[in-house]
Amino acid sequence: MTYPERVRRARELYRLLRGEAPPLALRELLEAVLGLKCSRVDVAEVGMERLYALSVSHGFGMALASFKTLPVLERDKGDWSDHAAGYVDLSDPRGLYTVYLGPDEEAAETACLAEAQLGDDIFGELLGIPACCRAFYLELRATALQRGDDYLELTLERSAQRIPAGANILGQYFGQTLMSHFPCSLECARSREATWARGRALREVNEDLVDHLEEGHYRHVLVLTGTGMWGFEGQPIPGGVLVQGAQRRVGAPGLKLPAGTRLLAHETGRGVNLCSPDGIWRGLERARLVVVEPRW
Ligand SMILES: [Zn+2]
Repeated sequence: MTYPERVRRARELYRLLRGEAPPLALRELLEAVLGLKCSRVDVAEVGMERLYALSVSHGFGMALASFKTLPVLERDKGDWSDHAAGYVDLSDPRGLYTVYLGPDEEAAETACLAEAQLGDDIFGELLGIPACCRAFYLELRATALQRGDDYLELTLERSAQRIPAGANILGQYFGQTLMSHFPCSLECARSREATWARGRALREVNEDLVDHLEEGHYRHVLVLTGTGMWGFEGQPIPGGVLVQGAQRRVGAPGLKLPAGTRLLAHETGRGVNLCSPDGIWRGLERARLVVVEPRW
C-alpha cells in the first residue's frame, strides 16, 4: 500500500471513530495505519470487536494477545498505568484485550510475537521507542516494579530543571500527548524528535486531533508525592520550556496556589509515589482533575 493510500485510510478511520474512541487510542491506531510504528492498546470487548471489523474493512493489521489484562485504576493518575493487577484467560469476562496494531497483518503479528517471545528491547523498537529510552526502561525495570511499575519518578529524577517541551510524558496521564513511552529524561532529544515527527504525520490526517494531543506537551503539571497530580490548562508555557523545581514549596494537604489560580478539583487518594519530595512542578494556570478516559 502506498503512503498516500495509508493517509487516505487513516482519514476515513478518523472520521468513523472521532468521538467514539478516546484520543490516545485513536492516535495509536492512526500511527499504526500510517506505518509510523506498531501499537498496543488495551481495550474492552466492544473496542476489540470494532477494531477487528475495521481491520478487515480498512486493511490494517491486528493481532490479539493470548491473555486478558486486569488493569489497575489509580484515580490520581487517570487510567493510564503501566501496572497490571494480573492476567486472565481470553474466556474470562473480566479484564481487557491486549491488541497489537500495525500497517498490515504481518507487522501486527510480529509485534504480538515480539512481546511474547523476543523480549522488551525488540518489542520496544517496534513501538518506535528510541534506543536510549529502551535502555533506560530495561536498566531500571526492577526499581520501577518496586515503585508500582511506574517510571515517572525515575524520569523526573534524571531530568534537568529547564526542559524543552516535547518529551513531557505527564501529558499521557491526562490523555493528551503525542508520545507513548517513558523517556529516559524529559530532555531526551530522540523522544522529542519522535513526538514532533508523529505530530507532523498525523496533521495530514487531522489538524484538530494533533492540536488537542500537542497541548499536553505544553501543560504545566503539578505532581505531589503521595497525593496525585494536577494538570493546568491555560496559557502555553513561555518559550515552550518547562521548569521543574521547588521555587515554591507546595505540600499536601495544605495546597497553596498563586493568587488568581482557580483550582477546579482537588482530589486526595491513597499514596502514589510519583516524584521525589523536591520534584515538584509549578507554573499554575487553571486546574482540572485528572481525566479518566472511557475504556473503548
Ligand atoms: Zn531517550
